[in-house]
Amino acid sequence: MNILNKIKNNWIKKFSYPLIISGPCSAENKKQVIDISNKLNKSYVEVFRCGIWKPRTNPGMFEGVGEDGLKWMLEAKKKNNILLATEIANKDQIKLALKYKIDILWIGARSTCNPFTIQEISDNLKDYKNIVLVKNPLNFDINLWIGALERLVKNNILNIGIIHRGFSIYKSFKYRNIPCWLDVLKFKKKYPNIPIICDPSHISGDSKKIYEISKKAINFGYDGLMIETHNNPKKALSDSQQQITPEKLTEILNKILLKKKIKKKYLIKLDIYRSNINEIDENILHLLKNRFITSKKIGKIKNKYKINIIQKKIMKKIKENYKYICKKLNLDDFLIQRIFDEIHKKSIEIQIKK
Ligand code: PEP
Ligand code: MN
Repeated sequence: MNILNKIKNNWIKKFSYPLIISGPCSAENKKQVIDISNKLNKSYVEVFRCGIWKPRTNPGMFEGVGEDGLKWMLEAKKKNNILLATEIANKDQIKLALKYKIDILWIGARSTCNPFTIQEISDNLKDYKNIVLVKNPLNFDINLWIGALERLVKNNILNIGIIHRGFSIYKSFKYRNIPCWLDVLKFKKKYPNIPIICDPSHISGDSKKIYEISKKAINFGYDGLMIETHNNPKKALSDSQQQITPEKLTEILNKILLKKKIKKKYLIKLDIYRSNINEIDENILHLLKNRFITSKKIGKIKNKYKINIIQKKIMKKIKENYKYICKKLNLDDFLIQRIFDEIHKKSIEIQIKK
C-alpha cells in the first residue's frame, strides 16, 4: 500500500465547501489583525490565516512579529469564533503555535524544499492529530512534495492537506509562480484522498488576478482556497501587490460561488489542457526573448572584433545537434528546422544592427 493513502480527508468534510482560509500575509500589529478578522465575511471564511515568522529573501526585510502576533490571533479567535492557521518552519515555532492554540499549521514552500526542515517539523509533530497543510515546494519537483508528505505520514501525522501555490520556473510574466495545473491535477488524481487547496495569492502575485485563478481552481475541483487579505493592501509589510481587502474577497467569492455553473467534465479537461498550453507558450516566449538578447550581445562582440556574423561551421554543428535532439524526443525535425530557420534569420538581423 502506498503510504500516502493513509492520509485522511475526514477533516475537510467538517468544513463548508469550499474551505476558505483568509487573512494577512503577515500579522503586523494588533489593530490590523483584529480589524481584518472582524471584516472577513464569516459565512465564507472559516479559517483566519496570519504569517508570524516570514521567510524573506534578504535579511533586514520585515521578518514577522513573532510571539506577539500569536497573542493577537488568539484574541481574534475569541472575538470572532474563527479557527486559526499559521506557517511553522521549526521546533520553536511549533511549540509557540501550539501554546497559542493555532488550529491549523501549514508548511511553507521554502520548507517543503528542504528534507531536513521537514524531518524536524515531522519529528516535533509526531502523532499530531490536528490539521497540517503542506505547500508545494518552490521549485517544480512533485517528488519533493510527495517526500514531505511521506515524512509526515511516517510519524503518524495523518490529517493532512496540500496547498498549491505555484512553482518558480524559469521566468513567468503572467504569474509570480506558474501553476502547472496539469501536473498538480495529475497528482490530485493519483491521491484523491488528499484534500487540495489553491493559493491564488502566491500563484498570481497580483491582486487583480485572484478572481480568475480562484475560479479556475473551483472549476478544477479543488477543496478550498487560501487567499491573502489585508485592511490596507498597499501599505502591507509583505506581499502588498497580491493582497486584497476582505470586502473584495466577499465580492470575488460571491461571483464565483453564487453563480457557479456545473461545467461538463470534458470542458473542464479542455480548460486544463488549454492552461497547460498557455504555460508552455509563455515559457517559449521567455526563452525566445532571452535568446534574442543573447544574440545582440554576440553581435556586439562580433562587430567590435570584426568577426563574420555568419559562421557556417558553427551553424552546421548546431543544426546537427537539433537533429539529434529531435530524434531523441521524437519531434518532426523538418518542422523544427523551419522554426529555427526563422529564429536564425532574426538573430542575424539583430547581430547586423549595430
Ligand atoms: C505565505 O503564505 O505568506 C507564504 C510565505 O507562502 P509561500 O510559502 O507559498 O511562499
Ligand atoms: Mn504571503
